[in-house]
Amino acid sequence: MRLANLHGRLVILTDGEGAVDVAEASSGLFDPDPQAVFDCWDELLAWVGENGTGEGVRFALQDLGPPVPRPRQIFAIGMNYAMHADEIGLPPPERPPVFTKFQSSIAGPFDPVEHPGGNVDWEVEMVVAIGRHAHRVAAGSGWDHVAGVMAGLDISERGLQHEGAEPQYSLGKSYPGFGPIGPFLVTPDELPDRDDLELRCVVNGEAVQSDSTRNMIFSVGELVSLLSSVTPLLPGDLIFTGTPAGVGERQTPPRFLSVGDEVVGFVGGVGEVRNAIVAAGATGLPAAALGGAPASTRAV
Ligand code: ZN
Repeated sequence: MRLANLHGRLVILTDGEGAVDVAEASSGLFDPDPQAVFDCWDELLAWVGENGTGEGVRFALQDLGPPVPRPRQIFAIGMNYAMHADEIGLPPPERPPVFTKFQSSIAGPFDPVEHPGGNVDWEVEMVVAIGRHAHRVAAGSGWDHVAGVMAGLDISERGLQHEGAEPQYSLGKSYPGFGPIGPFLVTPDELPDRDDLELRCVVNGEAVQSDSTRNMIFSVGELVSLLSSVTPLLPGDLIFTGTPAGVGERQTPPRFLSVGDEVVGFVGGVGEVRNAIVAAGATGLPAAALGGAPASTRAV
């Protein structure tokens, strides 16, 4: 099953690539809010199993919002691919670094992203949405708590991220629009091999990252187990599962995104997010929401 956020309403995609409005089709049994469905995930699966999805209406991809618009918690994993740890110059971690992307960074799959100044970098990632409460879950049961997966970008401003003696991962990765996700939430049963999904990041038509989720140091099951050993994972939470090698700051010389660039984050069997980098103020966000210094004044 593929779920999406169309004009702020939960829809199920049909085989004919139409969209069925879940609240309307269920006569109000389910809330139209895409975030609300995770609190009744099993009920939704049961309802779809009994009723099917029916005929959908055609829609434009550009009208899709983030499938999970307001997760209560967002976990993001650093250095989860050995080649990426290697390009940073560190050995693979025994326990992955965990940070958050604050909720207001979540954006739709085709939303323009305002450049806040500084050194803005790309990171393609598979993003997991939690469908069932998870606390102290064994790795072998991790997928049982997953509603579905999406493509995503963990866009990062490296100047702020590396500023000061301690890293500022969470702030540097949380400017508005820095967490585009989508285009659909794909349930794991749709995937030929849920632990082997192609990952690709393309900037202005050039492939800059290419790998597979089978090369993650910590698998989805292990991440759910590890995170839930500390923090209960709540329905509708997200895990950004880490990025492979090929980020801009590790290239020689370092490369960063500029206004006018287009970034595509692709996950095999799931789809892609495609985001244009636009000037500060171009999307109508107040300028005060964006605060980075001009690129030329920031160290890598
Ligand atoms: Zn990342």
